[in-house]
Amino acid sequence: MIDFAPDETQLAILDSVDRFLQDRLPPDEIRRRDAGHVPPYDLLPALGELGLFRLAVPEEEGGLGLDWRTVMLVQERLGRHAYMVASIFNRVVGFGIASVKGYGSAAQRAALMPKLLEGRLLIALALTEPEAGTDASAIRTRAMRVEGGWRIRGRKTWISDAKGADYLLVAARTDPESSGSRGISLFLVPPTAEGVAMTPLSKVGNNCMPSWDIGFDDVFVPDHAMMGQEGQGFRHMMSTLHNSRASMAATVTGCAQAAVDCALAHAKERVQFGRPLGALQSVRHRLADMQMRVDQSRLTVWHLGWLIATGQKAQREASAAKVIATETLQYVTHHGMQILASAGYSSESDMQRFWRDGRLYTFGEGANEIQREIIAREMGL
Ligand SMILES: Cc1cc2nc3c(=O)[nH]c(=O)nc-3n(C[C@H](O)[C@H](O)[C@H](O)COP(=O)(O)OP(=O)(O)OC[C@H]3O[C@@H](n4cnc5c(N)ncnc54)[C@H](O)[C@@H]3O)c2cc1C
Repeated sequence: MIDFAPDETQLAILDSVDRFLQDRLPPDEIRRRDAGHVPPYDLLPALGELGLFRLAVPEEEGGLGLDWRTVMLVQERLGRHAYMVASIFNRVVGFGIASVKGYGSAAQRAALMPKLLEGRLLIALALTEPEAGTDASAIRTRAMRVEGGWRIRGRKTWISDAKGADYLLVAARTDPESSGSRGISLFLVPPTAEGVAMTPLSKVGNNCMPSWDIGFDDVFVPDHAMMGQEGQGFRHMMSTLHNSRASMAATVTGCAQAAVDCALAHAKERVQFGRPLGALQSVRHRLADMQMRVDQSRLTVWHLGWLIATGQKAQREASAAKVIATETLQYVTHHGMQILASAGYSSESDMQRFWRDGRLYTFGEGANEIQREIIAREMGL
């Protein structure tokens, strides 16, 4: 049975999340960071102190031993308040903890897990290349074996938070004869390593998540920098991205609810033709449609959380949750912009931030076209 009621522990956690967000990220601070392109890396240790990175980690590994449902509730709450903090939370939980736990060596787990749980370590995922976007298996970056380690040569692009990270998790071809998804391995590379050159990329949204183009000019990494099995990097990377879909679906659902809240408040306040916009049937129905879409997205996310927490296969459901949540966000921000009209188009408004930020998520972290392919495959097509 699926139980939809948060238990007392979950309610207490959400209460402390709310207090933290009110204190550290009030609305003006969110707008200041967005306008000034200030990433919330400084908040990571405080999120760590709250215990949020320990939620679904087993007690014997220093975690709280809760399950994925609690993580998703927190992600939704963070996304509803400020996507910038949800994004950085997901990076630690998905790209960091899940990867180190899933395929890190015993030495890597011992060295990295405590810092990740404390919010003192950030790992950025460096997969995409100029010629390898949706087709991630087309990567050309190479790692050549040398005495004591590897030398990495190539280029990555659109890597989020790369300069603020402690490590880049870099996918590189270790078998020079290989093509496609075979012969790829993963390496933990400090962004400060000799031979790494970073150029910032200018973009339309997600201002608090800087994007970088990165050159690797014979960057040396020692043998122990390899994460996971040699030649199995593509499989490892896909498992990281599978986990991150659940995170994205939960946070994007929270953001979509924030967009509906924003449009609803405006429809109650803004008076035209002598009555609030919300008294007009076309606006009322638009808002009803928006809320129904968010409710559907939330139910899909909760169902996915239950599947993960109870150890069931959730390939199809994870892809579906990612598609439904990201397309819901675009739907509600498109209609939210219409309801707010000029008030939404002002750069002061939160709606324009939701609208431009939300454009990324239907193609980022596994394009929705590819998610539909996964769903169709899981349906036996
Ligand atoms: C702001 C931002 C942050 C990012 N952060 C990261 C990051 O941290 N790390 C990282 O490694 N990458 C990151 N990326 C890269 C992101 O993952 C890619 O943009 C994404 O994989 C799509 O690749 P592309 O942009 O080259 O599009 P393309 O691959 O050129 O695709 C263009 C369009 O064609 C569609 N398409 C392609 N192939 C098919 C197919 N077989 N069937 C149907 N449709 C298809 C795509 O879905 C898309 O709609 C980021 C990108 C952005 C913009």
